[in-house]
Amino acid sequence: MVTTGEKPGKGTYTCRNCGQRITLDDTTDTMPPCPKCGKTEFN
Ligand SMILES: [Zn+2]
Repeated sequence: MVTTGEKPGKGTYTCRNCGQRITLDDTTDTMPPCPKCGKTEFN
């Protein structure tokens, strides 16, 4: 699981609440809150 504020690296993550996908394309990107529902937990 990845939470908002972590730097999990490149990849596509899925919101555990609503299924919204977020793609991080740089290793220094910080996980944002879900743009759709605002939750902070992702797979
Ligand atoms: Zn969401």
